[in-house]
Amino acid sequence: MSDRYDQNNIFAKILRKEIPSTPLYEDEYAYAFHDLYPQAPIHILVIPKGAYISMNDFTANASMEEIAGFFKAVGLVARNAGLADEGWRMASNIGENGGQEIPHLHIHILGGKKLGPLLG
Ligand code: IMP
Repeated sequence: MSDRYDQNNIFAKILRKEIPSTPLYEDEYAYAFHDLYPQAPIHILVIPKGAYISMNDFTANASMEEIAGFFKAVGLVARNAGLADEGWRMASNIGENGGQEIPHLHIHILGGKKLGPLLG
């Protein structure tokens, strides 16, 4: 864990069940739940169980087991949501320039319609 990790960010509170969320999937590496303000018919967030700020922190400090377990979970969640055949988008905002609002790594799974260009 980075010393800059804020234990009181919203997703840390969701992991500790201090804030409610709609659980879609959980294992030892990952937790998935609905985005509160969906930007597509299906908008799911997948977060690692470990305290990682972003992809920077995660890829620098997480073990290979955590990284593999987390991304296996992302794929499984998308398949469980029925998105494998029609396609979907995976996105992660990183830091200030990336537009990250909540400083706990999260992958957005977006789908359920034909999405516009990523860089519109
Ligand atoms: P970011 O901009 O990539 O950091 O994305 C943060 C996401 O968290 C946004 O899509 C928000 O809609 C979502 N969000 C904020 N608060 C909550 C919550 O309490 N539950 C679920 N999603 C949330």
